[in-house]
Amino acid sequence: MAKTYTLPPLPYAYDALEPYISKQIMTLHHDKHHNAYVVGANAALDKLEKARAGTLQIDVRGVLRDLSFNIDGHKLHSIFWTNMAAAGKGGGGNPTGKLATQIEKDFGSVDKFKQQFGDAAKAVEGSGWALLLYDAEIGSLVLTQVEKQNFMHLAELPIVLGLDVWEHAFYLSYLNDKAKYVDAWWNVVNWEDVAKRLDKAMK
Ligand code: MN
Repeated sequence: MAKTYTLPPLPYAYDALEPYISKQIMTLHHDKHHNAYVVGANAALDKLEKARAGTLQIDVRGVLRDLSFNIDGHKLHSIFWTNMAAAGKGGGGNPTGKLATQIEKDFGSVDKFKQQFGDAAKAVEGSGWALLLYDAEIGSLVLTQVEKQNFMHLAELPIVLGLDVWEHAFYLSYLNDKAKYVDAWWNVVNWEDVAKRLDKAMK
């Protein structure tokens, strides 16, 4: 029996990120979209197991593509939820301590970081993410942008902050104004979680 992924609960209420991200968006995004990635990853693992047992013929390339798409969808959303918190209750403001120092070292200032990370998110063509990673080899944060959510790993670079700019993440509230969503999103960024992820990446 293949191991299975499970949908983690949100670390806050569905309406906790309002008015920046609506209860309706959070409910659909978590319960439908994220859940579909969990179901899809488990289905792909099951197909691979059946193929090994000789009870199912598969197109291995197609199944592995599904697996990659769905595992990354699951992992990225799991990070995304914890990267956020209710505005004023852990969300928003600016990073402090070691995280702030690292951002200032690598981007010049927190404002310059927000500008460039926001630009990366706004410039995603179609569905994708803006991600902040840490590369221990050069001791630096690294910004990246991904299309969709699979085949995007920079090998060994852990993600410390991610922003989902798929239309399902904002369209119901912001319609086609992705830039407005990206700018509003800073109000719910949980810098403490980002700092924790950076600490772990540095170890
Ligand atoms: Mn999403």
